[in-house]
Amino acid sequence: MKILVCIRQGLDGEINPFDACAYEEALRIKDAEVIIISMGPQSAKDFLLKLTRLGAKKAILLCDKAFAGADTLATAYALSLAVKKINPDLIFCGRQTLVGDTAQTGPMLSVLADTSLITNVMSIDEIGDSITCTTRDLGVQTESLPALITVERINNLRLPSIISKMGEVEVWSAEDIGADIQKCGLQGSPTRVVKTFENESGKRKCKVISADELNGVIADSLKKSKDKIKQTVSNLEKLDKVFIVGEGPREFAQTVSDDITVLPITNAQDLAQKISEQKPNAVLWGSDCLSKKLSAQVSAMLGLGLCADCTLLETDGDELYMYRPALSGSVIAKIISHTKPAMATVRTTQNSADIMVAAGYGAKDSLDLVRSFSEKHSAELVTTRKAVDNDILPYNMQVGLTGKTVSPLVYIAVGVSGAVHHIAGMQKSGTIIAINPDPNAPIFDYADYGIIKPIEEVLK
Ligand SMILES: Cc1cc2nc3c(=O)[nH]c(=O)nc-3n(C[C@H](O)[C@H](O)[C@H](O)COP(=O)(O)OP(=O)(O)OC[C@H]3O[C@@H](n4cnc5c(N)ncnc54)[C@H](O)[C@@H]3O)c2cc1C
Repeated sequence: MKILVCIRQGLDGEINPFDACAYEEALRIKDAEVIIISMGPQSAKDFLLKLTRLGAKKAILLCDKAFAGADTLATAYALSLAVKKINPDLIFCGRQTLVGDTAQTGPMLSVLADTSLITNVMSIDEIGDSITCTTRDLGVQTESLPALITVERINNLRLPSIISKMGEVEVWSAEDIGADIQKCGLQGSPTRVVKTFENESGKRKCKVISADELNGVIADSLKKSKDKIKQTVSNLEKLDKVFIVGEGPREFAQTVSDDITVLPITNAQDLAQKISEQKPNAVLWGSDCLSKKLSAQVSAMLGLGLCADCTLLETDGDELYMYRPALSGSVIAKIISHTKPAMATVRTTQNSADIMVAAGYGAKDSLDLVRSFSEKHSAELVTTRKAVDNDILPYNMQVGLTGKTVSPLVYIAVGVSGAVHHIAGMQKSGTIIAINPDPNAPIFDYADYGIIKPIEEVLK
């Protein structure tokens, strides 16, 4: 069994956390020959060399000036040519990178390398002629080999043993993989960032309230928030025809077009055919696991640019301008697509409850109190990564950059410090209420209401 693991080096020089999980899963498969691959500069050679000490026989670095500036589609193209040369039975990718945060490269690669696909894998249950995995939101899935899977943050990458040896790193150029330069790097990338702005949008003016006011504020916020989370942009010019896949993106679509057609969520083949035949100006998708998977597959099938997780859309009647948070949410990027129709996934609400209660690490000794408060308000309990890493609550509850994105009407953060990684996943909530005894906790910069007290004094 030959397994190829796709790895990206993060801005911090470390392996992208989701790719680390993919690598660890591959190393756990008995008798597998594991090869790791990365696209990057020459300096990534040392990074890969170190990673071979964990068990990979070989590492491949795709390195060529022609690859520079690649978006997800151009990256998937180069990787797919390498895949054809290596001919693995399985390809493991992380769910997403923290730099790009799109979750697109894996599904795109599966189309271009002609493999089956399972995304958002929480556990690998069986491997034979086929692979069976339990996924985060899409149930248990079985696909025939060759297959590509994208892995959630489900394990910890092992450390090298003192006696482990380094493997070898081969450097492959565009020519080595027979790449068409026009499809590589910046020139092969259909999406382009036209501008970036500092993101101040998540910051709010926090009003300090007393514990006694909490229930009243929750009730008022539920009434007010519905209007507040609607988009406020009104474009004077509109696009002629926009498709939405499922009902989710309707509110976004209405900001840029009056002619909206809903395509039912079927399969990538069927959707690709409808889009190429009917030629809308833009296609908008939701941000749930299935929509992200299908949109990336369709993008690769049709060679169309796809912008991920847009929070705002604008148009001049001709071009679609797509805005999305980048670099852990610290900046907003304005993006256009050179291919038509323009395609984007938009940040739609993924939660079922109107109220969410986030129990952070500071709630570790008062979990029963937080749970009963949450039940009393029919709220959904969610959490932070630190609480997950300390086994206080499970990963499927984690909100943030490496968890899920939510936008309930009311988000109550209890014992949460307010790290940017957490804020990235909840800043579109209607009203945000924070309970924390530390008046300097950053969460108060992102909250509408704050109670500066320990949980035990508030949720009595
Ligand atoms: C690459 C990367 C990705 C990440 N992705 C995510 C992600 O997706 N989601 C995420 O959440 N984090 C993520 N993190 C981690 C993030 O940076 C923070 O470490 C994490 O969010 C902190 O969790 P916390 O607020 O629960 O804990 P802490 O930062 O420890 O904060 C606990 C808070 O509880 C308060 N507190 C203490 N006692 C009480 C009490 N009795 N009552 C009330 N409050 C109390 C404290 O004042 C403190 O502010 C990521 C980090 C990295 C490096």
